[in-house]
Amino acid sequence: MVAVISPANIEWQTDDTGNKVPVSGEFGDVYFSHADGLAESRHIFLENNQLSERLANLSAKQCFTICELGFGTGLNLLATWQLWRQLRLTHPHLASARLHFITTEKYPIPFSDLAKILAPWPQRAPELAALIEQFLASYPPLIAGCHRLSFIEDNLTLDIWLGDANDSLASLGFETAIKRPYIDAWFLDGLAPSCNEISWTERIFSQMQHLSRAGTTVATYSCASIVKRGLQSQGFVIKKSKGFGPKPAMLTAVMSEMSSLDERISSLSNKAPLSNYPSNAVVIGAGVAGLLTAWSLANRGISVTVLDKDAPLAGASGNPRALLAPNMTPIHHVYEHLHSIGYLYSGRLYRYFNQQAAIQKSPLILEQTGTLDLLIKTNIGTAQIADYPDSMATTISTQEACDISGLNNKGLVNNLYLPQAGLVNPQALKTVILAHPSITYQQLQITNIEETQDNVVLTGVEGDDSDESVNQKSVTITTDHVVICAAYESHQLDKRIVKCRTIRGQLSWFTPTAEQLTKLPKLPLKYSGYCAPFIGQSGDGELNPISKSQPQFLLGASFIDGDANTDIRSEENQQNYDKLLEDIPELSDILPDDIRAWQARAGIRTQTLDYHPLVGLLAQSQRLWTMSAMGAKGYALAPICAEALADMMLGCFTPLSSVMLTRLSPNRVRLHKVQKSHKRSL
Ligand code: SAM
Repeated sequence: MVAVISPANIEWQTDDTGNKVPVSGEFGDVYFSHADGLAESRHIFLENNQLSERLANLSAKQCFTICELGFGTGLNLLATWQLWRQLRLTHPHLASARLHFITTEKYPIPFSDLAKILAPWPQRAPELAALIEQFLASYPPLIAGCHRLSFIEDNLTLDIWLGDANDSLASLGFETAIKRPYIDAWFLDGLAPSCNEISWTERIFSQMQHLSRAGTTVATYSCASIVKRGLQSQGFVIKKSKGFGPKPAMLTAVMSEMSSLDERISSLSNKAPLSNYPSNAVVIGAGVAGLLTAWSLANRGISVTVLDKDAPLAGASGNPRALLAPNMTPIHHVYEHLHSIGYLYSGRLYRYFNQQAAIQKSPLILEQTGTLDLLIKTNIGTAQIADYPDSMATTISTQEACDISGLNNKGLVNNLYLPQAGLVNPQALKTVILAHPSITYQQLQITNIEETQDNVVLTGVEGDDSDESVNQKSVTITTDHVVICAAYESHQLDKRIVKCRTIRGQLSWFTPTAEQLTKLPKLPLKYSGYCAPFIGQSGDGELNPISKSQPQFLLGASFIDGDANTDIRSEENQQNYDKLLEDIPELSDILPDDIRAWQARAGIRTQTLDYHPLVGLLAQSQRLWTMSAMGAKGYALAPICAEALADMMLGCFTPLSSVMLTRLSPNRVRLHKVQKSHKRSL
């Protein structure tokens, strides 16, 4: 895996007509035909994969998956997206069908170059204008690994895998026991073999076979013999067809019935695959993990009921605000660092939610304030972070740190500025998610879960448990799938889910005076704890009425291992206070001495021994899943893990690598034991 990404070096050359055209500095070749790149893309990749007909013929809820080698300027994506939008307008039955566009790029184009390259298109092809704007608004920082961009209104998921295509194809994650995902159409656009052999290796062709099924198609402009041989050797039947413009020929291919690995693989599996697309699911637990799981499933056309014995966000994820900021890792580890991947995806999703909230004039979900990380008690220094793109993390001088935070501290020497970080408003997030037409919430305490061949039957009790005999009512619910997102209580619902550590955390906050407010940090700070100013909102369930609409200042959070009690403790407010003063002593003149009036909230975070969450199908099950043990990072991890879980459930490619999925498997301890004993017996 290429751990550190080298952005493309764009060279602007002048063509015959005097126009400036972008050329790949790495390969000395053009990204597309300068005569008419869009027509070329439509001819070679769309028409020769018969996309119009195939997409128009998708059935309800079906997902069509394209994989491209060589993302370049994104022109193929834009042409495909535009076709998809157009088809969805004219074919109402496509309303619930989905398009998944997976692409790989080793030398991604920096944002400023890309914006310049795409700038002329709206004039030449006005139908692309809105798409370009949306695409550029979500363009990720150029770090290795998979970046999922969800264009929710269009039912389009874009996964951009940054790194060498050889590695990215090998990483495509689908660790699911119930249904294997496939690529339906390949766009081979990795530059001609004469200038780039690495896109046409045996390893790539063999991965293509592994990821294809009978009928999968391939299109490429190259008719080079290395391409023909490579495809044929893996069972694709090739055919020459008419090239674009002056080029006489191009190549298409289709995976033959005989060569598809399908049958051989399914005969090895001891489980009958579930054939029906689930129409409904139950999520147990209305914390951040459960809400995001419901959201990902609902967006795939599944009706979801979220059940909880308590109100939504009654547990650890219901603090007045949550800090969304990455724990930095050296950049060569970032592609396998769930927290970084999750942080970037969460930011994109919450910004999308913000747009919805703005339309409804409701509170923002993410207040993107930026965050200053003082790198206290971390294993990482500024030197190790230097290679990160500035849009994700950048080191700043003492003076800049003081200007940005309002502090006056010459001791601020290690300053990391995280421009996309900020504060999540959990209640606002809950409101947006529960407003989804396919999600309902029901207060119910589950007492039994029974999986059958055809469904899952849940039994629960509804009502007030203060007087069992009078007010409680037993309820039975039958559903296609169940996802247990009940944090440390997940183990009680199903013993296959390991018992996790319980870590109590208490957050404290107070209403500063006008004078204190001018001197307190103006944006969230990370030190050995974290603090942040925020304005109380009327929807903030946890704030007392006086705090609403008022500036507040929060300090987080205590960390008490093995404690599952949620009483408020004044000594933990004191700990939060002391931690801040120890790391930033100048605040001692500003923070109130008397902390008795502080408000606080305690929650129980759940963590596994290896710190990774539990995400996936339970052992020996086909319908019971879990997503839990997010520790204190639920707002960063839940959105990407929920996407991965929904993809696994529906037989689609996930945005997490297969290595990562194995690491997150709820059965990993058991799998390790099996592997160990297998090794011993060899
Ligand atoms: N599809 C693009 C578009 O619509 O603009 C044009 C792609 S351009 C012809 C080829 C791209 O393949 C370049 O951006 C190049 O950096 C990328 N590439 C070349 N070798 C690669 C590899 N081994 N892995 C991933 N990407 C690669």
